[in-house]
Amino acid sequence: MELTKEQFLHDFKDILHEEQLIKVEDATSAELFQTLARTIRKYITPMWLERRNKLVEDKQKIAYYFSIEFLPGRMLETNLLNLGILDVVKEGFDELGVDFTAVKQAEYDMALGNGGLGRLAAAFMDSLATTGYPGFGNGIRYRYGLFKQKIVDGYQVELPDDWFGSLGNVWETRKDHDVVDVKIFGNVYLQANKEGRMLPIYENSQTLRAVPYDVPQIGFGNDVVNNLRLWDVEIPEEYELDYPTIEARRKVQDITAILYPDDSSYEGKELRLIQEYFMTSAGLQTIIKSYRKQGLPLEQVHEKVSVHINDTHPAVAPAEFMRLLLDDCGLEWADAWNATVQTMSYTNHTILSEALERWDAELFKNVLPRVYQIILEIDNRYIADMAARGIDPQVIEHTRIVKDNQIHMAHLAIIGGHSVNGVAKLHTELLKEDTLRDFYAIYPEKFNNKTNGIIQRRWLQIADGPLSNEIDYLIGKGWRTNIHELRKLLDYKNDQHVLSEFYNVKQEAKARLATFIKESTGVEVSTEAIFDVQVKRLHAYKRQLLNLLHILKLYWDLKDNPDKDMVPRVFIFGAKAAPGYHFAKSVIKLINEVANLVNNDESLQGKLKVVFLENYRVSLAELIIPAADVSEQISLASKEASGTSNMKFMMTGAITLATLDGANIEIKDEVGDDNIVIFGMNKNEVYDHYARHDYDSRGVYEDNPVIRRVVDSFVNGTIPNVRNEGAEIYEALITHNDEYFLLEDFASYVAAQEKIDQLYRDKEKWARMSLVNIATSDKFTSDDTIEQYAKEIWNLKKD
Ligand SMILES: *Cc1c(COP(=O)(O)O)cnc(C)c1O
Repeated sequence: MELTKEQFLHDFKDILHEEQLIKVEDATSAELFQTLARTIRKYITPMWLERRNKLVEDKQKIAYYFSIEFLPGRMLETNLLNLGILDVVKEGFDELGVDFTAVKQAEYDMALGNGGLGRLAAAFMDSLATTGYPGFGNGIRYRYGLFKQKIVDGYQVELPDDWFGSLGNVWETRKDHDVVDVKIFGNVYLQANKEGRMLPIYENSQTLRAVPYDVPQIGFGNDVVNNLRLWDVEIPEEYELDYPTIEARRKVQDITAILYPDDSSYEGKELRLIQEYFMTSAGLQTIIKSYRKQGLPLEQVHEKVSVHINDTHPAVAPAEFMRLLLDDCGLEWADAWNATVQTMSYTNHTILSEALERWDAELFKNVLPRVYQIILEIDNRYIADMAARGIDPQVIEHTRIVKDNQIHMAHLAIIGGHSVNGVAKLHTELLKEDTLRDFYAIYPEKFNNKTNGIIQRRWLQIADGPLSNEIDYLIGKGWRTNIHELRKLLDYKNDQHVLSEFYNVKQEAKARLATFIKESTGVEVSTEAIFDVQVKRLHAYKRQLLNLLHILKLYWDLKDNPDKDMVPRVFIFGAKAAPGYHFAKSVIKLINEVANLVNNDESLQGKLKVVFLENYRVSLAELIIPAADVSEQISLASKEASGTSNMKFMMTGAITLATLDGANIEIKDEVGDDNIVIFGMNKNEVYDHYARHDYDSRGVYEDNPVIRRVVDSFVNGTIPNVRNEGAEIYEALITHNDEYFLLEDFASYVAAQEKIDQLYRDKEKWARMSLVNIATSDKFTSDDTIEQYAKEIWNLKKD
């Protein structure tokens, strides 16, 4: 959009004076943020309405991305950038004497997601609007986001993430006219109506009201505004008598209270299922309502609608869609099923079996009696169809939806949809040859790959202003709209002056982070050191512990020989552990105690520092990632489906230190072997160990004195204050045979780290590697990923 500084200042002051009744000089950063956000809303409202009207008028096909998580982080700067008014606003603020950075930091991260999966969903919203495709999000408006992490005495402490604060979410709009009701519990039986059609009669069910809150998703430079619809739950007035106590009301509010309820108990599991069904049913009901307004035949709903199932959480969708088409719309089974399969598509995000949801059949039947009946019918018909196709009975048994008294949600998503995709090449291969092998044999045509991507605008333009300016200076600003122009940087890879400028820009980012580290932890770090960063959720398969083993190895090297020739290192961690994940929490404690040990040991002469930054989240990632020299992507090969932080680091010039896992493989293909450091077993070597059952971590430990010394540090008092946690980790590695092969990969990891040390000594060479990483990171723009989803899965058109 077009906006002059004068017009902006006029609009901004109007809102500040009239709505907030304050003067600029007296306003707090939070008030200025609110005012600015309201000003932006004024600008986007007409675009938003126009977009909606045009889509209705043109009867365009719309894709709905169903996800139980969306993790956008802060929205202010992205919205300004995408509207094309970021510079105007900054100039206007300069004139008012207002600090833009302080205002932007007053916004609370919208953290309605755990990590990569939710972040991807948020990225896709931005890319859908930017590419101009009609793609809308559907999720839950959680009252509390992912917990806020504090570190106390080295331990993770979880506090509620009260992201609404006292002001609520300035970006959202409540849509009362679009409320729908969702039924759970009770009994259902079928009764013939006058035409002899069997219809369900509900008894004693509970009715919830789903209230939508819409959050605008603004495209970059195209004035397109799409919609992210988040559902909240309320008690319908006409059913008030069903909820006579505060306790009963609270139980309802719990449905949208927290992102990931503790599901170790029966009640917790039930709540999680209700959450999933609630957002899925509400979303699908709205879709059918608006489709019906168009007056087109319901048998062809898939020509105007795609529903994407992001991981298994919304995987009840095919059954719920069937219910709506059969019971509410009166379609025959065959027509309803055909429309459902062609509407639905599913992304698998992990091969870890604990993440493929299964529901106890009794629990499911209790919460969703009618959907349960439909699932049984889908299952029966599936078995009959497959038998008729001559499929091996054992394969049918493996792939059916209801077995061993459990409902297999991934199976429902695959059988009830037309597309199944993995999120990186290797991951999709693993799905085909291992995890979903039987399905691949039955439906090879459903399988496809869509490698994840990232929003270059957030991770480069916003997060690294100085690097962006340097790129502008070299190749012009075209890359800001066409990211593929970044490749022009390759022309400068032998230009000494440019390389030294790139080095300086990285040093600037490191200095910004060093200041933050000092302020937030008190630890002093030198920007001359290598900033070696691992930030991501804490999980055993991601192997933060392997990183820690290497740190302890360096510690012992330096204790033996304080004059060891090494480039100083700062190891930086950021990670939240799931509240019930004991092992992960112990690793956090160990990292923090090793940090205490090494940061306070004068004999190490500052060569080794360890920093754990608490409360890792999108806004902190924006500060940390541009400052990284080394990007640690060290999961056990085959376990990280894709990863996306690996792409963010690459884009701001870190060198990736990685196993051949997930998208690391595709990063290597882009940058070439000389511009990445690879170590460890590959997927085949890992699978060979599984096949032969021959891994013996104790043997590795006993044969390797370096490993022995490092692992013994956990239990021999070297690290203070870790009696229990140290013993626990020791047990995991030695007694429980080191599930993720840390000890097997250790030697190769150490060698790779020594290579990093050597490479970094040649500043020019390092800067060249860094430049090649930045220049080829265009490959991972989520704008292109979305183009592929839109063309190959959803069959969408732009205007
Ligand atoms: C990108 C991102 C992730 C995903 O990181 P991975 O290393 O790919 O697991 C998680 N959390 C936040 C806050 C992110 O920005």
